Amino acid sequence: MSEVLVLVEHHDGAIAKVTGELLTAAARLGSPAAVVIGKPGTAESLAGELGALGAATVYAAESDEAAGFLVTPAVAGLAAAAAAADAPAAILLAATVEGREVAGRLAVRLESGLLADAVDVAAEDGVVVATQSVFGGAYTVRYRVAVGTPIISIRPGSIESVPASAATPQVVPVQVSIYPAISAVVVADHPEPVGDRPDLSAASVVVSGGRGVGSADNFHVVEELADAMGGAVGASRAAVDSGYYPPQFQVGQTGTTVSPQVYVALGISGAIQHRAGMQTSKTIVAVNKDADAPIFEIADFGVVGDLFTVAPQLTEAVTQRKG
Ligand SMILES: Cc1cc2nc3c(=O)[nH]c(=O)nc-3n(C[C@H](O)[C@H](O)[C@H](O)COP(=O)(O)OP(=O)(O)OC[C@H]3O[C@@H](n4cnc5c(N)ncnc54)[C@H](O)[C@@H]3O)c2cc1C
Repeated sequence: MSEVLVLVEHHDGAIAKVTGELLTAAARLGSPAAVVIGKPGTAESLAGELGALGAATVYAAESDEAAGFLVTPAVAGLAAAAAAADAPAAILLAATVEGREVAGRLAVRLESGLLADAVDVAAEDGVVVATQSVFGGAYTVRYRVAVGTPIISIRPGSIESVPASAATPQVVPVQVSIYPAISAVVVADHPEPVGDRPDLSAASVVVSGGRGVGSADNFHVVEELADAMGGAVGASRAAVDSGYYPPQFQVGQTGTTVSPQVYVALGISGAIQHRAGMQTSKTIVAVNKDADAPIFEIADFGVVGDLFTVAPQLTEAVTQRKG
Protein backbone atom coordinates (compact mmCIF):
# COMPACT_ATOMS: atom_id res chain seq x y z
CA MET A 1 0.00 0.00 0.00
CA SER A 2 1.39 3.43 -0.93
CA GLU A 3 2.20 5.82 1.87
CA VAL A 4 0.24 9.03 2.40
CA LEU A 5 2.31 11.79 3.98
CA VAL A 6 0.85 14.07 6.65
CA LEU A 7 2.58 17.26 7.82
CA VAL A 8 2.45 17.21 11.64
CA GLU A 9 1.47 20.50 13.29
CA HIS A 10 3.02 20.73 16.75
CA HIS A 11 3.96 23.43 19.23
CA ASP A 12 5.83 23.11 22.53
CA GLY A 13 5.59 19.31 22.36
CA ALA A 14 1.80 19.26 21.78
CA ILE A 15 0.38 17.84 18.56
CA ALA A 16 -2.43 19.96 17.08
CA LYS A 17 -5.88 18.35 16.86
CA VAL A 18 -5.93 18.74 13.08
CA THR A 19 -3.02 16.29 12.75
CA GLY A 20 -5.28 13.48 14.03
CA GLU A 21 -7.88 14.50 11.45
CA LEU A 22 -5.28 14.41 8.66
CA LEU A 23 -3.99 10.97 9.74
CA THR A 24 -7.58 9.63 9.71
CA ALA A 25 -8.00 11.07 6.20
CA ALA A 26 -4.67 9.53 5.15
CA ALA A 27 -5.82 6.06 6.28
CA ARG A 28 -8.62 6.25 3.67
CA LEU A 29 -6.04 6.69 0.91
CA GLY A 30 -3.15 4.43 1.94
CA SER A 31 -0.69 3.89 4.77
CA PRO A 32 -0.47 7.04 6.96
CA ALA A 33 3.04 8.44 7.43
CA ALA A 34 3.62 11.48 9.65
CA VAL A 35 6.30 14.02 8.73
CA VAL A 36 7.75 15.87 11.71
CA ILE A 37 9.74 19.06 11.19
CA GLY A 38 11.75 20.22 14.19
CA LYS A 39 14.89 20.07 16.24
CA PRO A 40 16.69 16.70 16.60
CA GLY A 41 14.72 14.38 18.90
CA THR A 42 11.31 15.92 18.20
CA ALA A 43 10.03 13.01 16.07
CA GLU A 44 11.08 10.40 18.67
CA SER A 45 9.25 12.32 21.40
CA LEU A 46 6.04 12.52 19.33
CA ALA A 47 6.17 9.03 17.78
CA GLY A 48 4.04 7.23 20.40
CA GLU A 49 1.23 9.75 20.17
CA LEU A 50 1.41 9.81 16.36
CA GLY A 51 1.12 6.00 16.36
CA ALA A 52 -2.02 6.22 18.47
CA LEU A 53 -3.40 8.66 15.90
CA GLY A 54 -2.75 6.18 13.09
CA ALA A 55 0.76 6.89 11.79
CA ALA A 56 2.50 3.70 10.62
CA THR A 57 5.76 5.56 9.91
CA VAL A 58 7.23 8.83 11.14
CA TYR A 59 9.64 10.72 8.90
CA ALA A 60 11.96 12.89 10.99
CA ALA A 61 12.97 15.98 9.04
CA GLU A 62 15.09 17.45 11.77
CA SER A 63 17.85 20.02 12.09
CA ASP A 64 19.01 22.54 14.68
CA GLU A 65 17.93 25.40 12.39
CA ALA A 66 14.43 24.07 11.56
CA ALA A 67 12.67 26.02 14.33
CA GLY A 68 14.38 29.24 13.27
CA PHE A 69 12.67 29.50 9.89
CA LEU A 70 9.09 29.69 8.71
CA VAL A 71 7.59 27.55 5.92
CA THR A 72 10.76 26.50 4.07
CA PRO A 73 11.82 23.69 6.47
CA ALA A 74 8.37 22.13 6.04
CA VAL A 75 8.63 22.34 2.24
CA ALA A 76 12.13 20.82 2.31
CA GLY A 77 11.12 18.13 4.83
CA LEU A 78 8.02 17.07 2.90
CA ALA A 79 9.96 16.99 -0.37
CA ALA A 80 12.63 14.79 1.26
CA ALA A 81 9.98 12.51 2.80
CA ALA A 82 8.21 12.24 -0.57
CA ALA A 83 11.48 11.07 -2.14
CA ALA A 84 12.06 8.57 0.70
CA ALA A 85 8.48 7.28 0.53
CA ASP A 86 8.89 6.52 -3.19
CA ALA A 87 5.74 7.75 -4.96
CA PRO A 88 3.39 8.50 -2.05
CA ALA A 89 -0.32 8.35 -2.91
CA ALA A 90 -0.90 11.88 -1.57
CA ILE A 91 0.49 14.57 0.74
CA LEU A 92 -1.94 16.10 3.26
CA LEU A 93 -1.61 19.39 5.13
CA ALA A 94 -3.96 21.50 7.24
CA ALA A 95 -5.54 24.43 5.39
CA THR A 96 -4.13 26.85 7.96
CA VAL A 97 -2.26 30.04 7.10
CA GLU A 98 1.12 28.27 7.16
CA GLY A 99 -0.21 24.99 5.71
CA ARG A 100 -1.57 26.80 2.66
CA GLU A 101 1.77 28.45 1.96
CA VAL A 102 3.71 25.21 2.43
CA ALA A 103 1.27 23.41 0.11
CA GLY A 104 1.67 25.97 -2.67
CA ARG A 105 5.45 25.95 -2.53
CA LEU A 106 5.57 22.15 -2.31
CA ALA A 107 3.36 21.83 -5.40
CA VAL A 108 5.84 23.96 -7.33
CA ARG A 109 8.81 22.03 -5.91
CA LEU A 110 7.34 18.61 -6.83
CA GLU A 111 5.62 19.81 -10.04
CA SER A 112 2.38 18.37 -8.67
CA GLY A 113 -1.27 19.42 -8.63
CA LEU A 114 -2.66 21.11 -5.51
CA LEU A 115 -6.21 20.59 -4.18
CA ALA A 116 -6.87 23.47 -1.77
CA ASP A 117 -9.23 23.69 1.21
CA ALA A 118 -10.77 20.21 0.86
CA VAL A 119 -13.49 19.08 3.28
CA ASP A 120 -13.20 15.36 2.48
CA VAL A 121 -10.98 12.87 0.62
CA ALA A 122 -11.52 9.40 -0.83
CA ALA A 123 -9.82 6.84 -3.05
CA GLU A 124 -12.03 5.99 -6.03
CA ASP A 125 -10.75 3.19 -8.28
CA GLY A 126 -7.23 3.99 -7.12
CA VAL A 127 -7.61 7.72 -7.82
CA VAL A 128 -7.39 10.24 -4.96
CA VAL A 129 -10.46 12.49 -5.06
CA ALA A 130 -11.04 15.53 -2.82
CA THR A 131 -14.31 17.27 -2.01
CA GLN A 132 -14.53 21.04 -1.83
CA SER A 133 -17.34 23.37 -0.75
CA VAL A 134 -17.37 26.38 -3.10
CA PHE A 135 -19.25 29.64 -3.82
CA GLY A 136 -20.17 30.15 -0.17
CA GLY A 137 -21.20 26.52 0.16
CA ALA A 138 -23.67 26.75 -2.74
CA TYR A 139 -21.90 23.91 -4.58
CA THR A 140 -19.99 20.82 -3.52
CA VAL A 141 -17.40 19.73 -6.08
CA ARG A 142 -15.17 16.66 -6.30
CA TYR A 143 -11.82 17.06 -7.97
CA ARG A 144 -8.49 15.36 -8.57
CA VAL A 145 -5.06 16.36 -9.81
CA ALA A 146 -3.98 15.76 -13.38
CA VAL A 147 -0.24 15.91 -12.67
CA GLY A 148 2.06 14.42 -10.02
CA THR A 149 1.39 13.53 -6.39
CA PRO A 150 -1.90 15.03 -5.10
CA ILE A 151 -1.05 17.71 -2.50
CA ILE A 152 -4.20 18.39 -0.49
CA SER A 153 -4.83 21.05 2.14
CA ILE A 154 -7.76 20.02 4.35
CA ARG A 155 -9.98 22.40 6.31
CA PRO A 156 -9.50 21.81 10.09
CA GLY A 157 -12.58 20.25 11.69
CA SER A 158 -14.01 18.82 8.48
CA ILE A 159 -12.92 15.21 9.13
CA GLU A 160 -13.43 13.50 12.49
CA SER A 161 -10.25 12.05 13.98
CA VAL A 162 -10.58 8.32 14.67
CA PRO A 163 -7.98 6.75 17.02
CA ALA A 164 -6.04 3.92 15.38
CA SER A 165 -3.41 1.32 16.29
CA ALA A 166 -1.37 2.33 19.29
CA ALA A 167 1.77 0.65 17.92
CA THR A 168 4.81 2.91 18.08
CA PRO A 169 5.77 3.65 14.49
CA GLN A 170 9.22 3.35 13.00
CA VAL A 171 11.07 6.68 12.89
CA VAL A 172 12.89 7.26 9.59
CA PRO A 173 15.31 10.21 9.38
CA VAL A 174 15.30 12.27 6.17
CA GLN A 175 17.69 15.02 5.12
CA VAL A 176 16.28 18.53 5.39
CA SER A 177 18.25 21.26 3.63
CA ILE A 178 17.43 24.85 4.58
CA TYR A 179 18.68 27.71 2.43
CA PRO A 180 18.85 30.73 4.78
CA ALA A 181 19.05 33.16 1.84
CA ILE A 182 15.53 32.26 0.69
CA SER A 183 13.98 31.53 4.09
CA ALA A 184 12.02 33.84 6.37
CA VAL A 185 13.71 33.94 9.77
CA VAL A 186 11.58 33.67 12.92
CA VAL A 187 12.89 36.48 15.08
CA ALA A 188 10.38 35.89 17.86
CA ASP A 189 7.78 33.22 18.41
CA HIS A 190 5.01 34.62 20.57
CA PRO A 191 1.60 33.14 19.69
CA GLU A 192 -1.32 35.53 20.24
CA PRO A 193 -2.81 34.92 23.69
CA VAL A 194 -6.10 33.07 23.26
CA GLY A 195 -6.99 32.63 26.93
CA ASP A 196 -8.73 29.45 27.94
CA ARG A 197 -10.89 29.21 24.82
CA PRO A 198 -10.02 26.78 22.01
CA ASP A 199 -8.43 27.95 18.78
CA LEU A 200 -11.15 29.34 16.51
CA SER A 201 -10.08 27.47 13.36
CA ALA A 202 -10.02 24.07 15.11
CA ALA A 203 -12.75 24.42 17.76
CA SER A 204 -15.54 21.81 17.95
CA VAL A 205 -18.01 24.52 18.96
CA VAL A 206 -18.05 28.12 17.70
CA VAL A 207 -20.46 30.79 18.96
CA SER A 208 -20.42 33.92 16.78
CA GLY A 209 -22.00 37.31 17.20
CA GLY A 210 -23.02 39.74 14.50
CA ARG A 211 -24.15 43.34 14.16
CA GLY A 212 -27.29 42.33 16.04
CA VAL A 213 -25.22 42.12 19.25
CA GLY A 214 -25.21 45.90 19.09
CA SER A 215 -22.01 46.84 20.96
CA ALA A 216 -18.69 45.60 22.31
CA ASP A 217 -20.13 45.69 25.83
CA ASN A 218 -22.94 43.34 24.81
CA PHE A 219 -20.54 40.72 23.44
CA HIS A 220 -20.32 39.08 26.88
CA VAL A 221 -23.64 37.39 25.93
CA VAL A 222 -21.81 35.60 23.10
CA GLU A 223 -18.76 34.81 25.26
CA GLU A 224 -20.85 33.36 28.08
CA LEU A 225 -22.62 30.94 25.74
CA ALA A 226 -19.29 29.98 24.15
CA ASP A 227 -17.76 29.33 27.56
CA ALA A 228 -20.75 27.26 28.72
CA MET A 229 -20.40 25.12 25.57
CA GLY A 230 -16.58 24.95 25.78
CA GLY A 231 -16.32 26.71 22.45
CA ALA A 232 -14.50 29.50 20.65
CA VAL A 233 -15.95 32.95 19.99
CA GLY A 234 -16.35 34.25 16.43
CA ALA A 235 -17.74 37.42 14.90
CA SER A 236 -19.19 38.59 11.61
CA ARG A 237 -17.33 41.23 9.64
CA ALA A 238 -20.00 43.79 10.45
CA ALA A 239 -19.39 43.13 14.16
CA VAL A 240 -15.62 43.45 13.64
CA ASP A 241 -15.92 46.59 11.48
CA SER A 242 -18.18 48.12 14.13
CA GLY A 243 -15.46 47.53 16.75
CA TYR A 244 -17.49 44.99 18.73
CA TYR A 245 -14.82 42.27 18.57
CA PRO A 246 -11.15 41.99 17.43
CA PRO A 247 -10.45 41.17 13.73
CA GLN A 248 -8.64 37.86 14.41
CA PHE A 249 -12.02 36.40 15.38
CA GLN A 250 -13.78 37.23 12.10
CA VAL A 251 -15.43 34.24 10.43
CA GLY A 252 -16.02 34.22 6.69
CA GLN A 253 -14.57 34.73 3.25
CA THR A 254 -12.04 37.29 4.44
CA GLY A 255 -11.69 35.85 7.94
CA THR A 256 -11.19 32.39 9.39
CA THR A 257 -12.89 29.36 7.83
CA VAL A 258 -14.42 27.11 10.48
CA SER A 259 -16.03 23.69 10.30
CA PRO A 260 -17.05 22.83 13.88
CA GLN A 261 -19.51 20.21 15.12
CA VAL A 262 -21.79 23.06 16.25
CA TYR A 263 -21.90 26.67 14.99
CA VAL A 264 -24.17 29.14 16.78
CA ALA A 265 -24.92 32.41 14.96
CA LEU A 266 -26.34 35.18 17.18
CA GLY A 267 -27.67 38.27 15.41
CA ILE A 268 -26.01 37.37 12.09
CA SER A 269 -28.03 37.79 8.89
CA GLY A 270 -26.17 35.08 6.90
CA ALA A 271 -24.59 37.03 4.03
CA ILE A 272 -22.84 34.83 1.46
CA GLN A 273 -19.40 36.07 2.56
CA HIS A 274 -20.14 34.95 6.13
CA ARG A 275 -21.58 31.62 4.99
CA ALA A 276 -18.43 30.93 2.97
CA GLY A 277 -16.54 30.59 6.24
CA MET A 278 -18.97 28.43 8.24
CA GLN A 279 -21.35 26.62 5.90
CA THR A 280 -19.61 23.24 6.29
CA SER A 281 -20.29 23.24 10.07
CA LYS A 282 -22.00 19.96 11.03
CA THR A 283 -24.91 21.57 12.93
CA ILE A 284 -25.86 25.23 12.54
CA VAL A 285 -27.98 27.01 15.15
CA ALA A 286 -29.24 30.53 14.41
CA VAL A 287 -30.92 33.12 16.59
CA ASN A 288 -32.28 36.13 14.73
CA LYS A 289 -35.29 38.35 15.28
CA ASP A 290 -35.96 38.53 11.52
CA ALA A 291 -37.74 35.35 10.36
CA ASP A 292 -36.64 36.07 6.78
CA ALA A 293 -32.92 36.31 7.59
CA PRO A 294 -30.93 34.17 5.07
CA ILE A 295 -29.10 32.38 7.90
CA PHE A 296 -32.28 30.34 8.47
CA GLU A 297 -31.88 28.81 4.96
CA ILE A 298 -28.84 26.86 6.18
CA ALA A 299 -29.70 26.50 9.88
CA ASP A 300 -30.48 23.06 11.33
CA PHE A 301 -32.11 24.74 14.35
CA GLY A 302 -33.44 28.26 14.20
CA VAL A 303 -34.98 30.51 16.82
CA VAL A 304 -36.83 33.65 15.70
CA GLY A 305 -36.33 35.91 18.66
CA ASP A 306 -34.22 38.46 20.47
CA LEU A 307 -30.74 37.10 21.12
CA PHE A 308 -30.62 38.89 24.48
CA THR A 309 -33.56 36.78 25.60
CA VAL A 310 -32.64 33.50 23.90
CA ALA A 311 -28.84 33.29 24.40
CA PRO A 312 -28.83 33.71 28.22
CA GLN A 313 -31.54 31.02 28.50
CA LEU A 314 -29.43 28.73 26.33
CA THR A 315 -26.35 29.46 28.46
CA GLU A 316 -28.29 28.64 31.61
CA ALA A 317 -29.73 25.44 30.17
CA VAL A 318 -26.29 24.22 29.00
CA THR A 319 -24.72 25.10 32.37
CA GLN A 320 -27.48 23.28 34.28
CA ARG A 321 -27.19 20.21 32.08
CA LYS A 322 -23.41 20.11 32.62
CA GLY A 323 -23.79 20.65 36.35
C1 LIG B 1 -15.47 41.25 -0.32
C2 LIG B 1 -16.27 41.04 0.95
C3 LIG B 1 -15.81 40.18 1.90
C4 LIG B 1 -16.55 39.97 3.06
N1 LIG B 1 -16.09 39.09 4.00
C5 LIG B 1 -16.86 38.82 5.08
C6 LIG B 1 -16.43 37.86 6.05
O1 LIG B 1 -15.34 37.27 5.97
N2 LIG B 1 -17.25 37.62 7.09
C7 LIG B 1 -18.46 38.25 7.27
O2 LIG B 1 -19.15 37.97 8.25
N3 LIG B 1 -18.87 39.16 6.37
C8 LIG B 1 -18.09 39.48 5.30
N4 LIG B 1 -18.50 40.44 4.43
C9 LIG B 1 -19.66 41.28 4.80
C10 LIG B 1 -20.99 40.63 4.51
O3 LIG B 1 -21.41 40.95 3.20
C11 LIG B 1 -22.07 41.17 5.49
O4 LIG B 1 -22.09 42.58 5.39
C12 LIG B 1 -21.83 40.81 6.95
O5 LIG B 1 -21.60 39.42 7.06
C13 LIG B 1 -23.05 41.19 7.77
O6 LIG B 1 -22.80 40.92 9.11
P1 LIG B 1 -24.01 40.68 10.10
O7 LIG B 1 -24.82 39.52 9.66
O8 LIG B 1 -23.45 40.68 11.49
O9 LIG B 1 -24.82 42.06 9.98
P2 LIG B 1 -26.23 42.35 9.32
O10 LIG B 1 -26.29 41.87 7.92
O11 LIG B 1 -26.50 43.79 9.57
O12 LIG B 1 -27.23 41.45 10.15
C14 LIG B 1 -27.52 41.69 11.51
C15 LIG B 1 -28.62 40.71 11.87
O13 LIG B 1 -28.88 40.79 13.25
C16 LIG B 1 -30.28 40.63 13.45
N5 LIG B 1 -30.58 41.24 14.75
C17 LIG B 1 -30.52 42.54 15.11
N6 LIG B 1 -30.79 42.67 16.42
C18 LIG B 1 -31.05 41.43 16.89
C19 LIG B 1 -31.41 40.94 18.18
N7 LIG B 1 -31.51 41.73 19.25
N8 LIG B 1 -31.61 39.60 18.31
C20 LIG B 1 -31.51 38.77 17.24
N9 LIG B 1 -31.17 39.20 16.00
C21 LIG B 1 -30.94 40.52 15.84
C22 LIG B 1 -30.93 41.33 12.28
O14 LIG B 1 -32.25 40.85 12.04
C23 LIG B 1 -29.94 40.99 11.15
O15 LIG B 1 -30.35 39.81 10.45
C24 LIG B 1 -17.77 40.65 3.27
C25 LIG B 1 -18.24 41.53 2.27
C26 LIG B 1 -17.50 41.73 1.14
C27 LIG B 1 -18.02 42.66 0.08
